[in-house]
Amino acid sequence: MSIDRDPQDLDLATRAQIDGVSFLLALFVDLTGKPCAKLVPVEAAEALQRDGVRFAGFAVGAIGQRPDDPDLIAIPDPASYTPVPWIRADLALVHCDPHVGGRPWPFAPRVILQAVLARARGLELAVGAEVEYFLVTRDADGRVAPADVRDLAPRPCYDARGLTRMYDHLTDISTAMNALGWANFANDHEDGNGQFEQNFTFADALTTADRVVTARYLISVLAERRGMTATFMPKPFTDRTGSGLHLHLSLWRDGEALFPEPSDARGLGLSKTAYAFLAGVLEHACGLQAVIAPTVNSYKRTGASVPRSGATWSPRSATYGGNDRTHLLRVPDGDRIELRGSDGSANPYLAAAATLAAGMDGVDRDLDPGDLGSGNGGHSALPPTLLHAVDALVADPVVSGALDAAGPGVCEYFAAWKREEFLDWHAAVSPAEVERYLTAF
Ligand code: GLU
Ligand code: MG
Repeated sequence: MSIDRDPQDLDLATRAQIDGVSFLLALFVDLTGKPCAKLVPVEAAEALQRDGVRFAGFAVGAIGQRPDDPDLIAIPDPASYTPVPWIRADLALVHCDPHVGGRPWPFAPRVILQAVLARARGLELAVGAEVEYFLVTRDADGRVAPADVRDLAPRPCYDARGLTRMYDHLTDISTAMNALGWANFANDHEDGNGQFEQNFTFADALTTADRVVTARYLISVLAERRGMTATFMPKPFTDRTGSGLHLHLSLWRDGEALFPEPSDARGLGLSKTAYAFLAGVLEHACGLQAVIAPTVNSYKRTGASVPRSGATWSPRSATYGGNDRTHLLRVPDGDRIELRGSDGSANPYLAAAATLAAGMDGVDRDLDPGDLGSGNGGHSALPPTLLHAVDALVADPVVSGALDAAGPGVCEYFAAWKREEFLDWHAAVSPAEVERYLTAF
């Protein structure tokens, strides 16, 4: 099996004409994962492919620009062309690489991932992403609740009836994924009320990151059409499980998988290269969390008290194990490792880039992760808050180096953005504080 990107007819205008597409959504995400786009009519497709389309970078969000900076120009990657007739019959989207002054912009997540992939010395990273999300609505008072008012059971996971009540939404997404060739293989009700997961087959890291962005867009827009909000926020409800973005990772070279080793003495079916990669991820786990769990809310998921269903299924410490969902790294089969620290707020490009850098450091240094259940010598607690994680990130030259892979200053900018996000949240007096302190002294 090969994980090479699918070679396609590279001419956007021709593809659009064949598919009856009249508009192209030229799309990219900022460092936080916000999808930004311009709608380009097919009459301008040739110019779009040749010259890109212009954005005021500061207005985009977290992408390293000030108001007085020159335009950010989004140049489409034609291999990512994706018709989305489920949104509009005549619409396709194309993922773009932002450029400034004629060069790829180092603060653009898609550019960063490609820079890290290019450093992997001929090794290719395959990624499978598990997209979990909640379908919610707001009541008249603005309170968020599961969109399905009957979804109240304390243990709703896999409930066939809860799944069936969302049949129209879930099967629309499944049909779209399959028509796009993503090979959707399962859709389920997850462990939280209102929570679902829709799985598609792994691919090369860039393709999967593009697909996660496309999937979030499709799921959000189609849910809105049914009067629901799809949320990928890591922990929308205190007493329910959170939403992960588990990443299934494997290394390949020239179409050959490097992870499986049936004679593995530890019994997980992994090769020495796989263990070294895994050990690298464990060693850099704390800094990595700032990238793969990048919001204040992320740490409500990983540090969570036990929810109503009985388990959080999300890691608190940097350990690895076999087919055991309590570890940061699970080894479900000898062909891959599953990173369970990443959540629905992760930017999939940055998550893949930072994880690859961490794993490759393990490969370069020939690291060994020690016994199952361990985490490189026992220093294994994951950061309890975003602020702790950001401190770990800036202290970790490998993970911060991944963010700076296309140019300097990105990690510093990201860390400052995330510190401000934490302090903004911290600045507000919460109901929990009032409860605790009002009459305590
Ligand atoms: N929702 C859980 C999480 O936050 C994962 C549940 C599962 O293993 O699918 O990671
Ligand atoms: Mg799941």
